[in-house]
Amino acid sequence: MKAARTKTPRKPVLKKPSNTSLKDPVGVYCRVRPLSVQDQECCIEVISETTVQIHPPDGYRIFRNGEYRETQYTFKEVFGTLVTQKELFDVVAKPLVEDLIRGKNGLLFTYGVTGSGKTHTMTGSPGDGGLLPRCLDMIFNSIGPFQAKRFVFKLDDKNGVDVQCEVDALLERQKRDAMPIPKTPSGKRQIDPEFADMINVRDHYKVEEVEEDNVYSVFVSYIEIYNNYIYDLLEEMPFDPIKPKPPQSKVLREDQNHNMYVIGCTEVEVKSTEEAFEVFWRGQKKRRIANTQLNRESSRSHSVFMIKLAQAPLDADGDNVLQEKEQITLSQLSLVDLAGSERTNRTKAEGNRLREAGNINQSLMTLRTCIEVLRENQMYGTNKMVPYRDSKLTHLFKNYFDGEGKVRMIVCVNPKAEDYEESLQVMRFAEMTQEVEVARPVDKPLCGLTPGRRFRNQAFKDELSRRLEIRGGPICGETEEQSVTEMFLQNFPPLPSCELLDVNDDQTLPRLIEILEKRQRMRQILSQEFTKNVLAFKTMLQEFDSGIASKENYAQGKLSEKEKVIAGQKMEIERLEKKTKTLEYKIEILEKTTTIYEEDKRNLQQELESKSQKLQRQASDKRRLEARLQGMVTETTMKWEKECERRVAAKQLEMQNKLWVKDEKLKQLKAIVTEPKNEKPERPSREKDREKALQRSVSPSPAPNAPPVRLRHRRSRSAGERWVDHKPASNVPTETVMQPHVPHAITVAAANEKALAKCDKYMLTHQELASDGEIETKLIKGDVYKTRGGGQAVQFTEIETLKQESPTGRKRRSSPSSPTPPEDAAESEWTDVETRCSVAVEMRAGSNLGPGYQHHALPKRRKP
Ligand code: ADP
Ligand code: MG
Repeated sequence: MKAARTKTPRKPVLKKPSNTSLKDPVGVYCRVRPLSVQDQECCIEVISETTVQIHPPDGYRIFRNGEYRETQYTFKEVFGTLVTQKELFDVVAKPLVEDLIRGKNGLLFTYGVTGSGKTHTMTGSPGDGGLLPRCLDMIFNSIGPFQAKRFVFKLDDKNGVDVQCEVDALLERQKRDAMPIPKTPSGKRQIDPEFADMINVRDHYKVEEVEEDNVYSVFVSYIEIYNNYIYDLLEEMPFDPIKPKPPQSKVLREDQNHNMYVIGCTEVEVKSTEEAFEVFWRGQKKRRIANTQLNRESSRSHSVFMIKLAQAPLDADGDNVLQEKEQITLSQLSLVDLAGSERTNRTKAEGNRLREAGNINQSLMTLRTCIEVLRENQMYGTNKMVPYRDSKLTHLFKNYFDGEGKVRMIVCVNPKAEDYEESLQVMRFAEMTQEVEVARPVDKPLCGLTPGRRFRNQAFKDELSRRLEIRGGPICGETEEQSVTEMFLQNFPPLPSCELLDVNDDQTLPRLIEILEKRQRMRQILSQEFTKNVLAFKTMLQEFDSGIASKENYAQGKLSEKEKVIAGQKMEIERLEKKTKTLEYKIEILEKTTTIYEEDKRNLQQELESKSQKLQRQASDKRRLEARLQGMVTETTMKWEKECERRVAAKQLEMQNKLWVKDEKLKQLKAIVTEPKNEKPERPSREKDREKALQRSVSPSPAPNAPPVRLRHRRSRSAGERWVDHKPASNVPTETVMQPHVPHAITVAAANEKALAKCDKYMLTHQELASDGEIETKLIKGDVYKTRGGGQAVQFTEIETLKQESPTGRKRRSSPSSPTPPEDAAESEWTDVETRCSVAVEMRAGSNLGPGYQHHALPKRRKP
């Protein structure tokens, strides 16, 4: 619909915009209108510049079991009840107008339920113009002085634009003016007083930096979509009050650039805000009439006011528009006042109206669906088909969403409680719409002509008229239609009538001659003036040229200066980049070093840990060894101590024995000394000795209490003697080959009187430590006698000694208590030596033997 076949800023042939990376979301703004009745219940609050909060009204809360939920919605900007139309325009519409003038497209629409202020926002109220008149005002303020003459730009019926020269345009103008109908709006202006104030916008807004070397033309069209039919609100139709013709619906078509347009839609070229608004108002009036005549609900139709701006560059002279179709840029701004978004059940629509209402809802539903699909495609990369064709409204919007340009929406809400549910729907849709993105339009390429053409042409014209004025000539250029030459021609003296009616007429010819001469002079003057002017013009041109040249030089100088600066900056950037690279390299190296060091550290720590563990193990080993050694030492010490004790005990025993033997000897000696000398002491024989001993034993004993015992010699007794074999328990078993064997003996561990009473022989097995450290076993034998007191006395008669020794003289290391292993015994070739002595041995357990015991020492004798 919008862009032309001619050069447009868009690239509509491409399905995807050329600069896909640059996209802007649909700008959604929210306007909350004031409540119409002061103390009405309000359910919407503006809580920040971008957020609005909506909460269910009181009744609603009760209805929903007291459930209370506040919802917040965020938009690009939220405008409260106090916002003025101007403020709204500044933020929302001004950028769209700026874009339009720079050749870019835009779409602005209002959305909301009926009565929420859509029309108030778009069109405005008397004395408070809305966005539409303000847009028009800004457009004409900006392009005012650069507008093309009417009909220079000619829209064709295929959504394109042509350009023609001014003369052709003039001719067409005259032709149209001559036509009785239709009357162009530039005729008599009869603006409805109701809306007269609406266009009384005094903002004087202007777009900065309008391309001055272009010429501009504005075209407006106004359509209405009702019940999915498009109606041209500017179509001129002969009005028949008796049988009004129903309006004909229009068809949409896609142009060769894939833009949608309404076939045969009236597009009016307008030259001022007033004129444009008048056209709008005409359409508005028609809409009202149709609504009343056809019994339609006005809030159920969408209205679309389209502003097309055609622009083309001036030629090299800066005087006429360049006659090149490709150089024309056509941009379009659509201002849409959508139908009320409420659902059908909200209104009291019936029958036909209900069906229509349903359709209207259908087109808004389609709009919602399209936005949803677009959003989904953009967010999730899907490629779903957007159902633009499902309704006329969305089909018309297709270019805006698929092409390039700004799309903005103002959601209007009425904070009153009754609108709560509908407002929620509106907010949800609006929030979703913000997520759709539209490609940003690219800047149009500049035309190749020198800038400043318009200014130079104007300057030349001004200068020319100034000079003519100085020469007293007519001032031209005041009105565009009058040429300079025309003005001069007017000052020429008019030719008198040169008809000669009378032969004698001598006045006409001289007057004619005079006038002709005058004219001739004037011609000469003019020709001189012309030459002068040409000269002046030439010099002026030269001046201009030189001025331009100097300016160009200056610009060149500036340019080279700037280039130098840029080159310097580039070098600096390169240097900095190099530095950055070096630093990055350094950082990399440092990072690597750090990693290596950290690795080392970890390794060392591990080593340290393993070493300390080893150390701990060693320490515990040491402790265990120490404990074991300690144990061994104490064991050995104890062993040695025991050994020592044993040896000491043996020595003691030996010494005691020796002492006892000595004692005994001493006693015997004493007895000998005290005995009466009836026998010769020098009898050497054994018999004699024995007798002596016997006699001695009869003599009074050293123990005065014991009565002397008459001892009898019993040696001669034959076999059948009975022995008491006294073996103390402390004795150690000997390993001698020759073991004493006494048959029929009573073996006792301690001296026993009963056993003595039964026997006549006594044998004590006594062990002691010999001087060589070996155990010596002695068998001390004696005869048992009955004493007169009824007790028993033992007279020791002989001692047999059993002893083991090594033939090599090696001392036996093993203790006598521990028997030598058999191999040891074999090695050490022990010999038994048996000795006999006749030493009376005192029984140590003498006390047990009773008071009658007497110990008698016998003279020592050797066994043969
Ligand atoms: P819609 O077009 O959404 O159905 P209108 O724009 O026709 O609603 O507004 C309905 C009524 O409310 C009108 O009388 C209008 O003047 C008034 N109105 C709407 N918005 C505002 C506003 N922001 N300030 C003052 N009055 C408003
Ligand atoms: Mg309205």
